[in-house]
Amino acid sequence: MSELSIQTKIVHSGERQPAPGGQPVATPIYATATYTYPTMAEMDAVFAGDGGDFVYARYGNPTVFALQDAMAELENGKVSLAFGSGMAAIHAALMACDLQPGSVVLASQDMYGASYDLLYKIFGPFGIKTQIADFNDLDSLRSKVDDVKPQVLLAETISNPLLKVCDISGAADIAHRAKARLIVDNTFATPYLCRPLDLGADFSLHSATKYLGGHADSTGGIVISNDETDRAALVGVMKLVGGVLSVWEAHHILRGIKTLALRLDRQCENARILAETLRRNEHVAEVFYPSMTGDDTLVSRVIREPFGGGLVTIRLKDDTREAAYKFMDALEICIRATSLGDVFTLVSHSATSSHRELSPKRRADLGISDGLVRISAGIENVDDIVRDIESALER
Ligand code: PLP
Repeated sequence: MSELSIQTKIVHSGERQPAPGGQPVATPIYATATYTYPTMAEMDAVFAGDGGDFVYARYGNPTVFALQDAMAELENGKVSLAFGSGMAAIHAALMACDLQPGSVVLASQDMYGASYDLLYKIFGPFGIKTQIADFNDLDSLRSKVDDVKPQVLLAETISNPLLKVCDISGAADIAHRAKARLIVDNTFATPYLCRPLDLGADFSLHSATKYLGGHADSTGGIVISNDETDRAALVGVMKLVGGVLSVWEAHHILRGIKTLALRLDRQCENARILAETLRRNEHVAEVFYPSMTGDDTLVSRVIREPFGGGLVTIRLKDDTREAAYKFMDALEICIRATSLGDVFTLVSHSATSSHRELSPKRRADLGISDGLVRISAGIENVDDIVRDIESALER
């Protein structure tokens, strides 16, 4: 071809270099929306097959795939698909369960508020019914399953915000006897503390926005299954619903995972110290912390010892929104924010954030009172955090 004009050179110069000789030690950020091949015949073969080659970002990206592979390995799964948020991951897992009009999803009564909204507001109009059960009472769960014949059971490893630990093996057994599938939201535990698939769950999923990313700077979600036959449905949701994870977020989350164990060691230790200290505080009526308030044998069967998780929830003696807000406003180091699992210690008011959409009656039934404050321990020096919380309670 003749010498190119400057306008054309500006567009193409430097692009599409051959892969470097050395293997990059860290996964590169493949910031490309599309891929070219030397011939149309090769491109056609890639479109037709599933040989792992890439054609278009919504169909897969190497950086995102690296994150998926990492999570499949950490969760002991066979199929792992990443999405743009934790909500998109829950949606994808439910879609992979082949729900039809008339199907029933049996959800735990102790879950993140938006998960109910997803079931009622998005799946409900398509004729999918949601029923609620207490997953901490296996006998009543069993009879509820017999009664409503669900196709899917949905629960969290450690519930939000009362930090109840789910007996995953027990729930999986009940689900499988009824030929239903069990989806476990493992966001609060992470694969460092719990691997739901090893305990019998069919899907484990995460809001990667939380502990996996860990630095309050990325949003993502991931679903892992140990059944290869789930791949087609999950890939279908990825390609056709299109809520894919961005390459930049995949990079952040993959990097975040490198320090997951280090961060969680510190976060769990800080949370335990906070729970013990706050139990003695005269302004606190109740402290919720799995290894302290739960059934010890259940907690140690589900969560790797000696950990109890990185979250602590407290109920103030003055169980009002005013008291909770006053306490939270007086904090100087802990951050008022509605997320969790970050390096920073975060405090959130469940009644007006994660469970805001629930009716006051429903919140009261669940024990989510106005004086309830959830603390997500960060990696700071715990003495500073204890001092901050104690002096805010005093004020
Ligand atoms: N699951 C749990 C347990 C959560 O706490 C959240 C968000 O707080 C989600 C799922 C939703 O995740 P995302 O905000 O990444 O969509």
